[in-house]
Amino acid sequence: MEFPVTRLRRLRRSEAMRSLVRETSLEPSALIYPLFLCPGEGVRKEIGSMPGVFNLSIDEAVKEAEEAAALGLGGLLLFGLPESKDEKGSGAYDENGIVQTGLRELKKLSAAKKLLMIADVCLCEYTSHGHCGIVKKAKNAPGTASKKSEANKSANGPESGSDTDYEIENDSSLRLISKTATSLAAAGADIVAPSDMMDGRVAAIRDEMDDAGFEQTPILSYAAKFASAFYGPFREAADSAPQFGDRRSYQMDGANLREAMREIDQDLGEGADMILMKPAMPYLDVIRAARERFDVPIGAYQVSGEYSMLQAAFAKGWLEPQRAMMESLLSIRRAGAGFIVTYFAKDAAKVLG
Ligand SMILES: [Zn+2]
Repeated sequence: MEFPVTRLRRLRRSEAMRSLVRETSLEPSALIYPLFLCPGEGVRKEIGSMPGVFNLSIDEAVKEAEEAAALGLGGLLLFGLPESKDEKGSGAYDENGIVQTGLRELKKLSAAKKLLMIADVCLCEYTSHGHCGIVKKAKNAPGTASKKSEANKSANGPESGSDTDYEIENDSSLRLISKTATSLAAAGADIVAPSDMMDGRVAAIRDEMDDAGFEQTPILSYAAKFASAFYGPFREAADSAPQFGDRRSYQMDGANLREAMREIDQDLGEGADMILMKPAMPYLDVIRAARERFDVPIGAYQVSGEYSMLQAAFAKGWLEPQRAMMESLLSIRRAGAGFIVTYFAKDAAKVLG
């Protein structure tokens, strides 16, 4: 029917009417709140580029968990800042590592019955070089930049090292990554979430966790994780910036949607129970494509840069905080994400009441 018989504005005339016909909704239980655990006691150190987000000692994280449960959030995603780092990221799979210790404390809370404790699985917060796997210098890497790497630098910006200087070894990294996942499951993680983007990590984790008796622990795979500038503030929060080069040899090229579908397909084939898309807002089309193609639960991570740019605009008075925050989350939900990892989780839950 055409205008004037059809008037689409009829259904927009009051909040009650809009509410009746609203297609997409949000609820606190679909929001996951990331926490950054650090050593010490009584530590609550704000991240400069992420107002309202903190490095928290375990006792402070406990308070956050209680608040998150009271607000009805779905869960916490745990990251760790270890006391010290080394080449092999041993803090990641140390049974007394920062997240393992935190998990044991958090699981004692009655709040833990309502909240899922999701453990991020990666090495980059624990390695001295800041990469997500084992680094091997390539044969022709003299320690000084070759002409080729100089050329690369000027072409791709200062963060991009030559592909020939070093290699993030895939298969040797898998052993450490699956060891990390198993140790986090042993410490009480309800879900393990590998974010490293090595090939074959889901199968390696499933194998090792099953052998260790954690066959009931689900894997939420960051299946489509793009090498993104929007991770910048997170690197301050998790102290995980690569000391050389960048992550483009393992994280995905932002231009590739079809390849994202292959990544997801492969992770599901290896036994991933759910997938996580990252970042969210600059990749809504990828979330939508995944939703249409795969019948598994899909989450999306509204990453640090998405949060920080909104916070910066709020601080300037350029955007209305509550409306912009809720619209950003709604857009991710509408694109097809069943759940959302977001630094706005607590604020959004308060709005949702
Ligand atoms: Zn990593």
